Amino acid sequence: MAPISKSEEYDFLVIGGGSGGLGAARRAASRYGQKVAIVERSGRLGGTCVNVGCVPKKVCWNAASIAETIHDAAGYGFSLEEKAPFDWTAFKHKRDAYIKRLNGIYERNLDKDNVEYISAHASFVSPTEVNLQAIDGSQETKTVKAKKILIATGGYPLIPKNIPGANFGITSDGFFDLETLPKRVALVGAGYIAVELAGIFNALGSETHLFIRGETVLRKFDPMIQEVLTNHYEKIGIKIHKNSKQFTRVEKLKSGGSLVLHKEDGSQLEVDTLLWAIGRAPLVDGLSLDKVGVESDSNTGFVFVDDYQNTNVENIYALGDVCGKVELTPVAIAAGRRLAERLFGPSEFSTRKLNYENVPSVVFAHPEIGAIGYSEPEARAKFGDENVKIYKTSFIAMYYAMLENKGPTSYKLVCVGPEERVVGLHIIGLGSAEMLQGFGVAMKMGATKADFDNCVAIHPTSAEELVTMT
Ligand SMILES: Cc1cc2nc3c(=O)[nH]c(=O)nc-3n(C[C@H](O)[C@H](O)[C@H](O)COP(=O)(O)OP(=O)(O)OC[C@H]3O[C@@H](n4cnc5c(N)ncnc54)[C@H](O)[C@@H]3O)c2cc1C
Repeated sequence: MAPISKSEEYDFLVIGGGSGGLGAARRAASRYGQKVAIVERSGRLGGTCVNVGCVPKKVCWNAASIAETIHDAAGYGFSLEEKAPFDWTAFKHKRDAYIKRLNGIYERNLDKDNVEYISAHASFVSPTEVNLQAIDGSQETKTVKAKKILIATGGYPLIPKNIPGANFGITSDGFFDLETLPKRVALVGAGYIAVELAGIFNALGSETHLFIRGETVLRKFDPMIQEVLTNHYEKIGIKIHKNSKQFTRVEKLKSGGSLVLHKEDGSQLEVDTLLWAIGRAPLVDGLSLDKVGVESDSNTGFVFVDDYQNTNVENIYALGDVCGKVELTPVAIAAGRRLAERLFGPSEFSTRKLNYENVPSVVFAHPEIGAIGYSEPEARAKFGDENVKIYKTSFIAMYYAMLENKGPTSYKLVCVGPEERVVGLHIIGLGSAEMLQGFGVAMKMGATKADFDNCVAIHPTSAEELVTMT
C-alpha cells in the first residue's frame, strides 16, 4: 500500500476498493496489462460486502442457524445442555479477525495483479485528473492524471433526518460493531437487510421487534414470499409491528442507556438497540462530481449510466451500488469485469456489458429465500393474465419430520406463453440459497416447464419438488 500514489499518470484509475472497483481494476491490470491504481478511503479493502455486508452477515447467519439446530437437536434424540449463553463478544472478535485476514488477502491479490493500492480519499479535479487526500492524518495531497476513471464508491445506510433522537439508533454498519447481543432490539424496515438482521437477533435470543410500514416484509418480492415469511417470523417470535407510522421521537434514558421509541399514538417501547434498515443512498459526498459535470438523479443521487456503464462524461464510468440498479456484490463484480474487458480487451469485446436480467438473489432469512426473474404480479402486468401460468407448492420439508416446530417450504414457478418458459422462480425453505444457483443457469438458458419436468428428481430433497410440479 502506498500512502499516496507512486505515479503521476494511470491508464485506469478506480475510485472505490469494493466489489465493483476490485473486479474492474484487477481484470484491467492482470489480463490486459494496463497501468491501474485503485483508491480506497476507508483504510480497508473489500468495500461493503467484505467489511459490513455479505461476508460478516453470512457468518452471523451461520451462528444463528447453529442456534436453531441446537434447539432442534432434541427432536432427533440428542440431549444437549447449553452451559452458558451464546458468547457474542468472543464470536464478534473472531469474526472481525476473519474479516481482517480477508482485507490482507485482497491487498495481496492487488499486488499479484499489479494494481497499485492508494489509501486516500479521491475527488475529481477535471475529467482526467483526480485529487488524492491521504487518510493517514498526514494532510498529504496529490493530483494524478488518468486516461479513464471509474466511480465505484458504493452506498451508505440511511438514518431518518426528521425524527428527533434518530441518531441514537444504529444502522447495518453499526450492527457489526455491537460488542454485546442486545436483550431487546427494534429494527425499522421491511427490506432484505432488516429481515436478515431480525432473523439473526431472534435466533440468537434477543427480543426482536420489527417495524414495517405495510402488512408484510420484503415488498419487492413475490407475494407468496412476503406472506410466508411474515407469518413464519411471527410464529417464531419476532414481534412485527405492521402498518407502523414513523416514531415521533427516540429518547435515550440516562440510566442504563436504553432507548424509548415514542409512537404517534402515544405508546412507547423501550429497547436496548434501535437499528434503522430503511434504505441506502449512493456514496458521492466529497467526490466533486459537479466539477466534471457527471450527472446523477437529483432525488436519489444515483449516478446515471447507460447499458455500458458510461456516464455522460467521456472516459468516466460508474457501476455498482453508486448507480443503484441491482445492489448486489456479484452484480458489481460482473459489471466491473465486463467494463474492463470492453475498455481494454480485444476488439470482439467492444460491446461487452452486463445483462441485468434474471439476476438470482437470495435472502438469508430463517428459512432462506431465493428469487429470480419476474414475480407473479410483474409477469401478469408484462405478459397479460392469459399468457401466464403459475405452478405452486407448499409442503413440510423432511428435516421437520422429527420436530414439533415446523418451518415452511413454498415454491412458485411463473411460466409464460404456450411453451411455458419459466420467467420467475420463487422459493422459501431450508437450503433455498444453495438451490437457486443451478436453477438460475437453467433460467438464463431459457428453460421451459417441460425442461424442468425432464430433469429427473433428486430424492429425498426439497428441490425435487421444483421438477415435479403439476
Ligand atoms: C448488511 C448488508 C448485507 C449485504 N448482503 C449481501 C449479500 O448477501 N449478497 C450480495 O450480493 N450483496 C449483499 N450486500 C450488498 C453488497 O455489499 C453491495 O452490493 C456491494 O458491496 C456493492 O459493491 P460496490 O463496489 O458498488 O460498493 P462497495 O462495496 O460499497 O465499495 C465502495 C468503496 O468505495 C469507497 N469509497 C467511497 N467513496 C470514496 C472516495 N471518494 N474515495 C475513495 N474511496 C471511496 C468506500 O469506502 C467503499 O470501500 C449487502 C449489503 C449490506 C449493507
